[in-house]
Formats: sequence, structure tokens, C-alpha cells
Amino acid sequence: MPYTTTNPYTGEIVKTFPTATDEEVTAAIAAADTAFQSWKNTPIAERMQVLANTARILRERHAEYAQILTLEMGKLISEAEVEVELSAKILDYYVEHGAEQLNPRTLPAEGFDEGAVKLVYEPLGVLYLVEPWNFPYYQIVRVGAPQLIAGNTLLLKHASNVPQAAAAFEALFREAGLPEGVFTNLYASHNHSELILSDPRVRGVALTGSEAAGAAVAATAGKYLKKSTLELGGMDVFLVLDDADVDKAAQWAVVGRHWNAGQVCVSSKRLIVVDAVYDRFLEKYRDGVAALKAGDPMDPATTLAPLSSQDAADLLATQVSDAVAAGAQAETLGDPVPAQGAFYQPTILTGITPDNPGYITEMFGPVTQLFRVADEDEAVRVANDSPFGLGGSVFTEDPERARRVAAQIDTGMVFVNHPTGVKADIPFGGVKTSGYGHELIDLGLHEFVNIKAVVET
Ligand code: NAP
Repeated sequence: MPYTTTNPYTGEIVKTFPTATDEEVTAAIAAADTAFQSWKNTPIAERMQVLANTARILRERHAEYAQILTLEMGKLISEAEVEVELSAKILDYYVEHGAEQLNPRTLPAEGFDEGAVKLVYEPLGVLYLVEPWNFPYYQIVRVGAPQLIAGNTLLLKHASNVPQAAAAFEALFREAGLPEGVFTNLYASHNHSELILSDPRVRGVALTGSEAAGAAVAATAGKYLKKSTLELGGMDVFLVLDDADVDKAAQWAVVGRHWNAGQVCVSSKRLIVVDAVYDRFLEKYRDGVAALKAGDPMDPATTLAPLSSQDAADLLATQVSDAVAAGAQAETLGDPVPAQGAFYQPTILTGITPDNPGYITEMFGPVTQLFRVADEDEAVRVANDSPFGLGGSVFTEDPERARRVAAQIDTGMVFVNHPTGVKADIPFGGVKTSGYGHELIDLGLHEFVNIKAVVET
């Protein structure tokens, strides 16, 4: 698919960009490798300065950067502003902590003097980043900030519907002082993964996206024995137990399911509510969803954005009708969404049995998969009856119970009394088909460094 900016609210094709040729990809790898030879030896203080400059420019021109996001993938302008600030915060985080997290570590080792055995963290080389459209800047920064601090150089293949966001970030890094070749935006095709990962100068790949993309790219990485990290889909659970603050839970569920128009890997997709509070919860949840106001995402009064594309809205419609055909009930809520734009009417699905495809389908949009369960044990069982294991939430007023339930949920992240959140200083990652590896904090930084043992005898 060619790289194209299509405004999801108007349907207008704004601009298309040619896909990179094989020659351009090969030249970009060579330039990234040349840049690596000097970037890895650039004092870390200078590398930090570039990231600090990037954060400063992002904040100075936040409105300009936010508008590109809303134009290309349709998110609310207020959410675009939040993403710009979150991206700046991640840059700040590594400016503040990156050097310390790369300091050599001394290991106690039998038979060796103190300080004789060390772990040192060295950059690997050129890394390949494959990123999705739902958080175009945050996804770049989440891997880019730690790996640039570490001294690696990066080739980006962004999603084909956010070419301007990708180009804007490349230009931003250059303006912030990043030398040429250290970060290159490539309008690469899927097939270019083979060309890129077969090159010995490319040392690994970080991918965020669907399971299909992850399986394809990780298989290619495996063929060439390159390390990969995969941040894939999720069907986060949102457990409401009988002692939950139901008002608070319902309010957060509306936000958790509908921010970014429901297109977040960690959206609260599966609401699992115990029988004792189900009716009260549902009444409040329905009211909250019905109050969402769909409209122009550039208008600050809008609270429900269009989906990223008409194709995404059509796919969601098919997924819902498949679930209904298999026996689920669909209830639509709120005023009719505008006829113009890639909108989807907010919908609650109930009666989803384990044999229904809707039980395991990640729905990327304002569709709630709602489950009524008898008690805490059944809530945990349903929560874990999923191929995914990204995030999850548990709502209860009892902290001890919250810890007990959190310990039983088979996911990479659990939030108590809050939807799964995204923060600069909390690591991100999942288990099962949600992928492997971590992003953010020192865990993300250490994914693509050579953790070398140096032993002095
Ligand atoms: P997608 O189709 O997998 O696209 C993601 C990226 O992978 C895009 O750059 C896409 O390029 C590329 N891609 C797809 N297939 C490829 C292949 N065979 N070879 C090379 N590159 C390939 O994902 P999506 O459906 O648009 O995005 C939503 C998915 O991402 C959801 O499942 C969501 O949960 C997941 N996600 C996960 C996280 C996380 O951190 N765990 C965060 C955000 C999103 P093109 O655009 O050119 O196809």
C-alpha cells in the first residue's frame, strides 16, 4: 500500500508518498551504519543534549505537531496534545536517567577481587523499528529515545497512513542536532523487512503492531538470527468486583474503552463485572458512553473521534456482525454518529460465549465486550481465558484483594482502580500473544545493547 495521508474525518486524500526503492533502502542502511561509527563514540552528554533539544522543540511547537496527528489518524486534538507531551516526557526521562542506566555494573564473583568483574553496556549498531499509526510519535520515542541514548542508530518503517508524522519526527530530530543517518524515516514496503534484516549491519528489530505483522517480521528476524521485541495486540480486562466504587469504575471504563476512539492496544476492551454490581455498573456505563459527542476531532468540544480510516470502521462492523451472527447481542448507544467520516456507533456486546469469534477478537474501536460473572474467581478465570496478555485493571476498594487478584491475572501490566495507563516511567510489555520484551525505563534501554561481561584476572 502506498504511503498516504487520508483525513479520516473528511475522507480527503491529502498527500501520497512514493514507496522506497530497494536502492534507497540499501543506501539508508549504509548511511545508518556510517553514522553508527561516530554516534557510538559521541559523548553521552552530547547524545543527551540532542534528546533534550527534541523535547524542547516538541513543547515549543506542540500545536503544530499535534495537528499532524489529528489530520492523519483522526485522534482528538486534545489527545494529540497529550501524546506530544508524553513523547517529550519520555525524552526527559532518558535525559535524566539514561546515563546512569548505562553505567557499568560491578558483579560479586567467587575468586575475583571486588570490581574485577563488570557488566558494560555497549550499543549494537543499526536497529529496525516497525511502528503502528495509533500513537505515531509516542511509538517512535518509546524505542527511539532509549536506543539513541545507548548509541544505536535507527531505521524507521512507520505505518503507511502516517507518513507526515514520520517525516515530521525525522525533521525534528535533525533540527534538534541529531547527525544525518542516525535516525532515518523510510517509506519501506513489507517486503523490505527481508532486505533490511538480512543485512549484517542491522542488529535487531523492535515491532509494535498486530500479531500477523509481529509473526511475519519476527520470523524474518529469526531466519537471520536477529533479536526482536514485539509489542502486539491486547484485549485488556477491566474487572469490577462487588466491593468496587461503581461510579468510579463506570467513569474510568468509559475513558478506558473510548480514548483514542478505542484504538489502543491497552484499551479496556473486556469489561468483566460481578453479578452483585452488574446492573448498577451497566446503567452508569451506558449513560457515560451515550454522552460521548462524536464530531470533528479538531474541535475541542468533540469527545469521540472517528476511527483511523474507513477500512478500520468497515472491519469493526464486520467483527461486530460476526459476533452477533454467532449469538451475541449488540446494543448501540448515543446520538447517531456523523454520516461523514470513519465513525462507528458506540456499541456494547453481551452474551459472548467462548465459542463466539467475538470472545477472542481484538476490536479496535468503540465496541465494548461485556461479561457478567458470578464472583471474583469467575472474573479471574474469564480474564485469563484469552490468547492475549498485555494489560488489565481491577476495581475493588480492598487493597489486599487488589494485590491478590493482580497476582492472578496473566498479563504484563495490571492497574488497580485505573485503566491500563501509559506513562514515561512505567515499563510497557505483555505476555502470551501480546508479544515479548519490554519498552521504557532501563528494561527498554537494555533490550538492544550488548551487555558485555569484562573479567579482569
Ligand atoms: P499492523 O497492521 O500490524 O501495522 C503495524 C506496523 O507493521 C505498520 O507499520 C505496518 O505497515 C507494519 N506491517 C504490517 N505487516 C507487516 C509485514 N508483514 N511486514 C512488515 N511490516 C508490516 O497493525 P495495525 O492493525 O495497523 O495496528 C494496530 C495493532 O497494533 C493492534 O493489534 C494493536 O493492539 C497493536 N498495538 C500494540 C501496541 C503495544 O505496545 N503492545 C501498541 C499499539 C498498537 P503498513 O502500515 O505499511 O501495513
